[in-house]
Amino acid sequence: MALGAGIRDDFPLLSHTVGGKPLVYLDSAATSQKPRQVLEALSEHYRCCNANVHRGIYWLAEEATARYEEARANLASFFGAARSEEIVFTRGTTEALNLVAATWGRAHLGPGDEILLTEMEHHSNIVPWQMLAAERGAILKYVPVTGEGRLDLDAFDRLLAGRTKLVGLVHQSNVLGTINPVREIADRAHEAGALVVVDAAQSAPHQSVDVAALGADFLAFSGHKMLGPMGIGGLWARYALLDAMPPYHGGGEMITSVGLDRSTYKDPPHKFEAGTPNVADAIALGVAVDYMRQVGLEAISEHVHDLTAYALLRLKEVPGLVIYGPQTATDRGGAVSFTLDCVHPHDIAQVLDGEGIAVRAGHHCAEPLHRRFGIPASARASFHLYNTRAEVDALVEGLLKVRRLFARSSSAAKEDAHGAG
Ligand code: PMP
Repeated sequence: MALGAGIRDDFPLLSHTVGGKPLVYLDSAATSQKPRQVLEALSEHYRCCNANVHRGIYWLAEEATARYEEARANLASFFGAARSEEIVFTRGTTEALNLVAATWGRAHLGPGDEILLTEMEHHSNIVPWQMLAAERGAILKYVPVTGEGRLDLDAFDRLLAGRTKLVGLVHQSNVLGTINPVREIADRAHEAGALVVVDAAQSAPHQSVDVAALGADFLAFSGHKMLGPMGIGGLWARYALLDAMPPYHGGGEMITSVGLDRSTYKDPPHKFEAGTPNVADAIALGVAVDYMRQVGLEAISEHVHDLTAYALLRLKEVPGLVIYGPQTATDRGGAVSFTLDCVHPHDIAQVLDGEGIAVRAGHHCAEPLHRRFGIPASARASFHLYNTRAEVDALVEGLLKVRRLFARSSSAAKEDAHGAG
């Protein structure tokens, strides 16, 4: 299937215009657009199959339960899990990482134990560990990032110690685009006796992510970046780990029996899914995964790679533009963050918005990483299977306009200052 222009008809939102200009959506790292198959699955669920799951003895409830559990099995096979019970549905990556910190972390970490993260983590793979470390007296350490936006693996080896209980890292950086060598890192972490938690929020949308091949112990993902709805995502973990972990939230659905003083819990994954789950969104995420498979994960990866390589090349034509992260598309995903001379990233995004171009500006929930590069913020363009080279061209034209506008206003300011003097 031809990606880019050839697939845009599947994504109704992409035909929108902004102020009379075609929408150029370059913010898929924040959230992806949804194909009509996913939109239809959502509406079909509520029109045809809506009932609460796992508790009804009537046909509709059984149908809803079967579809919900089919979605789980689908996600399990998408991530190469050994069994469907290894997928716990959560609201997304953030909740999945909090789940690991609050359950496995509380049970296994004590004073002086070390958690080794990296400087390129999203806040969702930092803050839950900070909270846990403060509670348990554990110590946080960070693998530094090199000037070209890669993990310093020598420093990783030095930091990995007998007290390291957990290594947490992002598979693909949402700022630098860097794809980290998870397998290599996981092997070294395991040798040192640590477990590995992988944040796959940015990799799962664009490439095949196989938990066994990565050597992960825990892996978190967000459905809304994978062409699925918001509010659904999950945690994969080896069944034995999940089985040994205490539950997360307490409530209905996660128990086998409740007494006044104590309760007993179901087996994974239900032990971790208290209350009414997000059934429709889980089913629609299953449809999103089917869609990605039908298009072909390799084709998606290649398309995003092509756009990234093209963007890295063309952005060099914009004077004063600095790209953060690897400068070539090898081992790099489709998020390209940059700054432009003295123009604030918010101003860049605002001028581009006037051209119908949607990019993100700010610290992208990665403040420590921005601090590492000595910048408070950056602008970020990010790509998915529906983007085109013409949209990259539009971005470059838009950025040249930003430069012209700001060069004019800064020379006008200089003239004013001169006149006033
Ligand atoms: N990790 C990374 C690398 C991300 O890009 C994001 C989303 N920006 C998250 C974690 C958090 O995902 P969510 O907000 O869907 O929980």
